[in-house]
Amino acid sequence: TDFIEQTLSAPENAEESALRPLSFSDFAGQDKTLERLKVMVGAARDRGEPLNHILLSGPPGLGKTTLSLILGNEMGTKVNITSGPVIDKPADLAGLLTNLNEGDILFIDEIHRIPKTVEEYLYSAMEDFRIDIMIDQGPNARSVRLNLPRFTLLGATTRMGLLTAPLRSRFTLQTRLNYYSHSVLQGIIERTCGILEVPFEPAGAAEIARRARGTPRIANNLVNFCRDYAQQRGNGTITQTSAAAALELLEIDQRGLDEMDKQVMRVMAENYRGGPVGLGTVAVAVGEEAHTLEEVHEPFLIQEGYLQRTAQGRVLTEKGWHVIGLEPKGGAQA
Ligand code: ATP
Repeated sequence: TDFIEQTLSAPENAEESALRPLSFSDFAGQDKTLERLKVMVGAARDRGEPLNHILLSGPPGLGKTTLSLILGNEMGTKVNITSGPVIDKPADLAGLLTNLNEGDILFIDEIHRIPKTVEEYLYSAMEDFRIDIMIDQGPNARSVRLNLPRFTLLGATTRMGLLTAPLRSRFTLQTRLNYYSHSVLQGIIERTCGILEVPFEPAGAAEIARRARGTPRIANNLVNFCRDYAQQRGNGTITQTSAAAALELLEIDQRGLDEMDKQVMRVMAENYRGGPVGLGTVAVAVGEEAHTLEEVHEPFLIQEGYLQRTAQGRVLTEKGWHVIGLEPKGGAQA
């Protein structure tokens, strides 16, 4: 099974919750997004008003949920967490909205997966804090207006491109989270080791940071495995050597690439001469779901320059060919 994919899709356990930063000052990296949020929070607090609606986008595991909880803490309001696919019909949305108190944050994860029939109700809720809902059917059908408390909608999405323009335009701020640099990740890893009371050498933390795909959630999971490994196969301290050996055992290489990443690139090279090829085709060939490839593997491969997205399909770059030991369009590397 795929460690990376599992890590990103598993629900959070108690130990992970203990690692969550609770305030702006605990949160490392994402400087631009953080500065934008601080400005909005400061202004809303000064005016004594609820925060305006905010849309966070970016690959999974970069801290969208964490930021929503931080915004709640910084504003001193409650955060109600839900997700797009759960809001099945307009009545579900009405139920959520009418349960909010003035100033509350409604966090909708995977907001791009809200059904279209529900999405339209969100427009007036966000804009005018009211919702007109149809009750009854046939000749008795009538529309009832519900007034809502002034709330903050915090949307999160891994797929900004799938959001409709009318929904997007109703957010005051749209901000994107990016993969973290190795040095920021190293800081996060050292903080995690501190909280979990795991002995580590900075070089060990750096080794994990290089292989964590710029993703704090993955970094924290790797720390856990590296801790186990150091206890069982080393002297209990996460050193560079023990971390490297642990990550080899998980088949995560020095660049943070896992077996699935490499399989994707090999299929593209060997079966499709490097592309262009459709993602669905690659997904079938490697036996993985297309949306997992699209949300987890592809963004990292693109960011690292192994893959390109073109109108015709996905294309392996020269760097991509070389990382799997091949020369572009066939032939082994010398
Ligand atoms: P998803 O999109 O899958 O919900 P996410 O982007 O919301 O993921 P989080 O669940 O917020 O990601 O973050 C995962 C974990 O990573 C958190 O539990 C937290 O411990 C850690 N983390 C995230 N961002 C940071 C950060 N900037 N500094 C320190 N730790 C962080």
